[in-house]
Parts: sequence; C-alpha cells; structure tokens
Amino acid sequence: MASRANHLILLGCGLLCAAALLCTRMVGPSVAQAPAYQAPPAYQTPLYQGPAAIPSPAAVSNFPIAFDARLAGDARQTRFILDLDKPVQFRAFALADPYRVIVDLPQVSFQLPAGVGVTGRGLVKAYRYGLVMPGGSRIVFDLMGPAKIAKSYVLEAANGQPPRLVLEFEEVDRTTFVQSLAPENRPELRPAIAEANAAVARADAPAAPQPAPGPPDKRPVVVIDPGHGGVDNGTQAGGGDIMEKNLVLGFGLALRDRIEKSGKYRVVMTRTDDTFIPLGDRVKIARNESAALFVSIHADALRRGEGDAQGATIYTLSDKATDSEAERLADTENKSDAIGGVSLADEPTEVADILIDLVQRETKTFSNRFARILMGEMKTTVRMHKHPLKSAGFRVLKAPDVPSVLVELGYVSNKGDLEHLVSENWRNRTVGSIAQAIDTFLAKRLATAGPGK
Ligand code: ZN
Repeated sequence: MASRANHLILLGCGLLCAAALLCTRMVGPSVAQAPAYQAPPAYQTPLYQGPAAIPSPAAVSNFPIAFDARLAGDARQTRFILDLDKPVQFRAFALADPYRVIVDLPQVSFQLPAGVGVTGRGLVKAYRYGLVMPGGSRIVFDLMGPAKIAKSYVLEAANGQPPRLVLEFEEVDRTTFVQSLAPENRPELRPAIAEANAAVARADAPAAPQPAPGPPDKRPVVVIDPGHGGVDNGTQAGGGDIMEKNLVLGFGLALRDRIEKSGKYRVVMTRTDDTFIPLGDRVKIARNESAALFVSIHADALRRGEGDAQGATIYTLSDKATDSEAERLADTENKSDAIGGVSLADEPTEVADILIDLVQRETKTFSNRFARILMGEMKTTVRMHKHPLKSAGFRVLKAPDVPSVLVELGYVSNKGDLEHLVSENWRNRTVGSIAQAIDTFLAKRLATAGPGK
C-alpha cells in the first residue's frame, strides 16, 4: 500500500515546471577569483557534526562555498538568497504532491549556520541541502502550497556583497501550477550508480595506477547501508545540530572497520560520505555484489506529542506491518526518495514468478534468523526497545535474494538514547555486538551452504 502510494506521489513528482526552466540562467565562469579557502581537514570518522558536515574525500578545493542563506518576504512573495564565494550554474524546477522546488547545482561545499532551513518563511515551509551525487548538490524547498519560481538568477559580487543565488517564489493557484507542469520536460533526476561512479572516476583523474589484478576475492560480502545522506538528513535533534545521516555514517564506518579486522568478509558500503543515495540504488548495490547480508543502519525519532520511546529495534521486511509504529516508521523511511527529489518512473515492475517467490521465502527465513541472532547479541550490551523485533514494508529491504535487516539504533528524540548515540563508548560496544552477530550468522550459513553463499 505504502509503495503504491509512493509510486503515485512520485509519478506526480516527475512532472516539471516548464516556467521554472525558462528562468534558469547560466553565469559565465569567474576566472580571476581565487577563494581564500582552506582545504577541509583530512577525512575522519564522524561521531556527529553540524550541517557543514563531512567533507567528501574529493572536496579538497575549488568547489564553490555557500556560507549563508536567508528568506525574506511574505506568503504571497518570498525570496531566497544564498551567499556564495563564486557564481555557480544552476537549474531550478518545481514538483507537485507535495509542492516542492528543487535547485540543482554543481557540487557545493555547504558551510551554512547550524539549523538553517529547519524553519521557513512565507511560501517556504522549510528547506534542506546537500550532495545528491559526486559532483552534484541540491537544495530542496518544501512549499506551503502551489507557488511558481517567478525569477531565479545569480548575481556577481558587487557593492561589498558576495555572489548570490536568488530565487523569487510567487503564490499561484493549483490549476495554474499544474498547467505549468510540462510532462515532456521531465528532468533526469535519478543519479544512477553508474553515472555516479563515472563522476568519481573523472574527479579522481589523473587515474592512479591500478594494482595488478590478484585472484578474485571469494569472501562473503556484507553490505552496510548508513541511512539517508546528502539532501536527506533523516531525523534530527538539537535544532538540526545532530542529524541521523551523520550519526549512522559514523556508526557504519566503525562497523565496517570492525568486521574487516577479521579478514573473513568483504564489506561494501552504500555510501562513505554525505551523499544522497536513492533507496533502489542501495538495494542494487547489495544485489550486484551478490551480498550474503545487507544491514541498513538508522536512528528513529518521535515527534513532540507522540510520546516517548527508547531503545534499539531490528526490522525485517513484511507486507504487513507488525504494528502502527512500524508502519509509521516504514512510511517515513520510504519517503527518502521523495525528499531527495528522485523520480521512480523507471523502476522496474516487480516480476511475479514462482522462482523469485521461492528465493524470497528462503531469503525471508535467513533475514529473520539473522534478526534473532542480532537481538540475542545486542540485548547483552545495548538498551533495546520493549518490542525489539518488528517488520514492515521497508523499500530498502526488498532485495529478493539478499537477507536484509534494518537496525534503528535508538531514538534521537529520547534524551538517554541520544546520549548513547553520540557516545564513542556506546558505539564501540554496539558495533562489537553487531559484528559478533554477523560473524555467528555467516559462519553458520557458510558451514551449511559452502563458500560463495
Ligand atoms: Zn532513517
């Protein structure tokens, strides 16, 4: 149900505001400006960081810096201004259901004050920003209602003001808004893995000499999937200072290091930096690697007024959610693609095939087995939710042939859990128990199935 609803929403999202495209403007490169910009410090495993978060390894220099942003105006006309250290090219367009405006930029180093965009003004409810792929950044505005981009432009530095990206939103009625969406101008929104990899390869040029190919690595592959990233911050605490995407990235990298220590398994991360990865691409990574196990790492939150909950929960895939909280959570996590502005129009329809069905059933058995082993390990070291094993329709768990679980480490909305989530000591203990569970599960599996899954 949730996925069908999402599909409909995202079909709507695929529509493009042609009027907005007309407003797109390109600004010539500014040659003479040498930014007084220090390269970010070497990449470190983040425990948690503010919005100016984790620099991508490639972000050494030359990326334009956005250092301040503000909104002005009222509910009929609202202006957004982004201060930059150099002019950039951009593309802006609107999406319906929910009403949003997307601004695609080349990779930008966002160094905006903490909490910027959490609350809006006028026609803008809120906005968020981040990498959507290597080489590409995005700003996504949630609108209060239908609005058009009346003007959008980049100003060169002048009169003591830095270069600025300016968007002017104007209130319109829904009919006008919908009429302005031109289906034939559907944007290419989907940062495919192949494209992203190609972009990384280009960014790395000149290419480093390739190591001589050794024997193929036959070790079982564990895919670790730190949830959210880039433009999708996930849940937040401390007025936007603490973001799920950063917490779980730090956790996932620590888990990778722990698992790799034994040398028995190869670990593949769905992301190692603050990049947005569509849910379907996370599943694709697991399938392309013929992974023996897929572990997605998240942190949950209850909104004010929804009560309090605490502890870690382990989720497996199911058509039917175990309870309403599991259903709410799956809906929230499945919104990631909509938050990132991804069109799912090209998602293949699911093949109903007896063979796939059989594989799926077997995979489900293994997923459940791993979930139970994981709970057994975690409950000796980590505070668990009062119902720690649940299931619901999480898109990211839908690989038919890869046992998959999603771990919610705790609630950033709970004071005790939040203290744990930002504690290195807690992280080490939890990483240890998950690594132990993975080893127990795979050792048993390999003993019965033989090597190579
Ligand atoms: Zn999440």
